[in-house]
Amino acid sequence: MKGAPAKKSLGQNFLSDRRYLAPILAAAELTPTDAVLEIGPGKGVLTEALAARVGCLAAVELDDRLIEPLRQRFADRPHVHIIHADILAHAPPALIGANLQSPISNLPISYKVVANLPYYITSAVLRHLLEAAPPPSLAVIMVQWEVAQRICAQPGDLSLLAVSVQFYAEPRLVQRVPAAAFSPRPKVDSAILQLRVRAQPAVDVAPAHFFTVVRAGFSQKRKQLHNSLAAGLGLDKATVQAWLTAAGIDPMRRAETLSLAEWGALCREAPIRVDGAMTGV
Ligand code: SAM
Repeated sequence: MKGAPAKKSLGQNFLSDRRYLAPILAAAELTPTDAVLEIGPGKGVLTEALAARVGCLAAVELDDRLIEPLRQRFADRPHVHIIHADILAHAPPALIGANLQSPISNLPISYKVVANLPYYITSAVLRHLLEAAPPPSLAVIMVQWEVAQRICAQPGDLSLLAVSVQFYAEPRLVQRVPAAAFSPRPKVDSAILQLRVRAQPAVDVAPAHFFTVVRAGFSQKRKQLHNSLAAGLGLDKATVQAWLTAAGIDPMRRAETLSLAEWGALCREAPIRVDGAMTGV
């Protein structure tokens, strides 16, 4: 799309400083047999580097102006598939699976995601990837620096986003990337974030139940847990006090201080189920 202006609405901040490709590729731990899904190949700078290293690459781009140039550029590489689609409208394993010729099924056993994400859909993409069946084994994504820090936070500083990601994956902040590394230059710095997806969620609780409780816990900013849980779940204070005591958690604590194991204990002692049925404390 020579000459065509970058679309702000699609989060188009293209990586212009190629020195940041090496840490992205290293964090992705690529092998020649890998199947990789790239979200938003843009002008293809990361796509080119990935194509040289993996066995199958599906690159999903929403901007129709970019599709033809990408297809022409990779025409001589049949293992690279340029897909014109909205990443959020398709199951990630189907996007990559449709491009693998597996004799057993059209789903790959395992795939990775590598992407310089369009920031306006970061949370939605994270959820889309981590809740996919199957999710990627590893994701290396560029996100805003502050978002990466929030995702990697420890108890004391946790948020709904951090707990949600850490439930499914082990995050590692690989490296800060300055705004000057992109064109057009965004307002804030970015970070390379590695997400190693867990074989099983961090806590042995059904995801729907876990997120019902965690969402309620974080429903009222900076409020003590007994207040936010009572308000978030529509329970009376005595029930919530008894619940927290049974789970071994001080009712005066705030949601951001709980570890994932403590959220698990809280879920197991919960007086409600996801469908709202009371189990009694
Ligand atoms: N990978 C390129 C790079 O590093 O230079 C481009 C990254 S740019 C931050 C994000 C890319 O995602 C853009 O090319 C944009 O058009 C594309 N994009 C935006 N929304 C998308 C969506 N919903 N599905 C797929 N691609 C999308």
